Amino acid sequence: MTGSGTVRPFFRPLFAVILIALAGALFFRSLPREAPIERRGFMMGTAVSIRALADEETLEAAFGLLHSLDETLSAHLETSEIGRVNAEAGSPTQLSPQTASLLAEALAWAERTDGAFDPTLRPLTRLWSGDGQNHRPPTEEAVARGLGDIGWKRVRLDGDSLLLETAMGLDLGGIAKGHAADETARLLRERHVASALIDLGGNIVVIGGRPDGGPWRIGIQDPRKSRGECLGVVEVRDLSVVSSGNYERFFEWEGRRYGHIVDPSTGCPADSDLSGVTVLSERSLDGDALATALFVMGREKASALAGELEKEGFAFILAGDDGTLYASPSLEGVFRLESKEYRLEER
Ligand code: AMP
Ligand code: MG
Repeated sequence: MTGSGTVRPFFRPLFAVILIALAGALFFRSLPREAPIERRGFMMGTAVSIRALADEETLEAAFGLLHSLDETLSAHLETSEIGRVNAEAGSPTQLSPQTASLLAEALAWAERTDGAFDPTLRPLTRLWSGDGQNHRPPTEEAVARGLGDIGWKRVRLDGDSLLLETAMGLDLGGIAKGHAADETARLLRERHVASALIDLGGNIVVIGGRPDGGPWRIGIQDPRKSRGECLGVVEVRDLSVVSSGNYERFFEWEGRRYGHIVDPSTGCPADSDLSGVTVLSERSLDGDALATALFVMGREKASALAGELEKEGFAFILAGDDGTLYASPSLEGVFRLESKEYRLEER
């Protein structure tokens, strides 16, 4: 034996320490993260945030997905797929399979809501919002012309092939955030995220419960109050909670408020006797389309459709502009009314 005999006793404890440290690092890596991380941004014309028990790389991937969906589905980007399709209206065109399937879902909701939800409102939404640039109402003639260029029944969709009549145009803004929230949830679940809250401007999907094990608590915006003031709270796990109303985006002209949700039967911003609609559903895409549609329909028609859809597992909170509030029976123990300015009513 040479020098090695004297070196060994010194290295043995060192090896042991390194081995224990490696095993410890591997063990702690395999444990779920305990502190959630949060990332915020501005996309799809709204503030978005994701809070999740995940690593930075996963949230980076989720934001990358949101960005690419925005670039595909935005009606006011000429470079988006929808922008291209609208520019090609009048000749047959090919959609990506994902956009074709989203449009098919949108058309199905158009049928189910008797046209209150209509994905062909681009000629009107362009008039009323000018992509956020218009701050005064268009002329009656312009609205009448716009009305002549809409109609979900006129869309020819055969698989991925689409034909829109000249001057028609798609606006998937009433369903795109829900779809994007579903896709984001799917990405996070695929990466084994067990707890997350995805908020795309009030279009919320939660995965699992809160990191501490309790249900997620989602505040329901009071549509008659400023942003952040809630009328109540829902406690949920693995669910989508989507709210719509004219409080979200609007402009004011000569003392009147003009909201971003258009009534396809008048061509004008919906003059609803509901001030806010919240839909709880498995898929956020469904909740998104429905929240927009029920707002347009107004209290009576919305209540009737809500009654049918409750049998399919959907739940609703309908806030009337007179302070009445309807909550589906299945929300007993899920929704808690906190504002004193609303009174709960039966349907
Ligand atoms: P939401 O914020 O989900 O209620 O959707 C409103 C957005 O959907 C608007 O900014 C328009 O892009 C589009 N939109 C407006 N009115 C309707 C409607 N009646 N049906 C479908 N989409 C609509
Ligand atoms: Mg919507």
